[in-house]
Amino acid sequence: MGLYDKFTRFVEERQKFQVSGINPFGTCIDEIYSATEGRIGDKRIILAGSNNYLGLTFDAEAIQESQEALRLQGTGTTGSRMANGTFGSHLALEQEIAAFFDLSTAIVFSTGYTANLGVISALATPDAVVIIDEDSHASIYDACALGGAQIIRFRHNDAKDLERRMQRLGEKAKEAIIIVEGIYSMLGDVAPLKEIVDIKRRYGGYILVDEAHSFGVMGEKGRGLVEDLGVEADIDIILGTFSKSLAAIGGFAVGGKQLDVLRYCSRPYIFTASPSPASIASVRASLRQVGHSKALREKLWTNAHRLYKGLADLGYKLGERVSPVVPVMIESKEAGLEMWRALVEKGVYVNLVLPPAAPFGMTLLRCSVNAAHSDEQIDAIIRAFAELKA
Ligand code: PMP
Repeated sequence: MGLYDKFTRFVEERQKFQVSGINPFGTCIDEIYSATEGRIGDKRIILAGSNNYLGLTFDAEAIQESQEALRLQGTGTTGSRMANGTFGSHLALEQEIAAFFDLSTAIVFSTGYTANLGVISALATPDAVVIIDEDSHASIYDACALGGAQIIRFRHNDAKDLERRMQRLGEKAKEAIIIVEGIYSMLGDVAPLKEIVDIKRRYGGYILVDEAHSFGVMGEKGRGLVEDLGVEADIDIILGTFSKSLAAIGGFAVGGKQLDVLRYCSRPYIFTASPSPASIASVRASLRQVGHSKALREKLWTNAHRLYKGLADLGYKLGERVSPVVPVMIESKEAGLEMWRALVEKGVYVNLVLPPAAPFGMTLLRCSVNAAHSDEQIDAIIRAFAELKA
């Protein structure tokens, strides 16, 4: 058997989508003009498929501070956090993140994926039980597999199902690690955290929340869903990424004092290079914006409502909740691909998401808005979808 023979079916499946027109998977955006515009081939397009929720990728201060870090500290750390890749700026950012959450300890990782892998795999050892939402991000599944824990899945956002599974665990529930997300990246819905906290109060256990898509987006101060629902005191660890609202690359975990021990027992912390000084500098600048700029969050939500209403009025089937992620549900993969290509032709870039990346066998045209989109751009996205109906 050839090295790649096991992928034959996968290759055939993908080829069906690539016979003509541009490839929806790994689409090359040939030029980026701003947080909201770019070019694909000869088309100037509105970017409506990123995770750049606060629109900070071109923030002048973040760019200037990032350039200064490049000049003063070089292009990379060339080492891991544990060995030779911790600079003063990494520690400063950790303190700033901890202060932002009003918690004692934060740890910076190389990506959001590595943050989940690092924290969860260290805790989810073979003697542990983790209970995760079935619709969890791949990094959460991979982390549990790396740690070797017993994995129990509960139905997406179904607190009653979670409770049944905690009940069945008996005494073991007291040490179970429950993992959920803030905003779920595909459907834009949020974990029923109040109910989950109530379950923890009655059965015991620990709660980890991945706020990748809700940090900077929800909560009075932008701390995420946990802040929005006022359940901060009941959450053990918050995980996050720099690759969405913070507009760079890297990840973090934040929690109580004891979190610090994970630095010494987390392979994904120890055995990979740390984020570059330029990334750290831009994240520090963007974090200040998240803290100070309620206006950005307000504009983001105004845009989310505008797009949601526009698409709902056209009769599209959307996620049940208004969110910066607006998933348009399409009846088949083929129809999804055709619509995705037509949207690019009309100057709008969204994400085509097929199962298993999309949950429950769905095909999605995943739109996402950011705080930098103008009303005119949101209306242009709606117009493009209206033309598809026509
Ligand atoms: N958690 C969730 C919920 C995510 O959606 C993602 C990325 N899409 C990650 C973690 C990983 O973050 P990163 O891409 O920054 O590694």
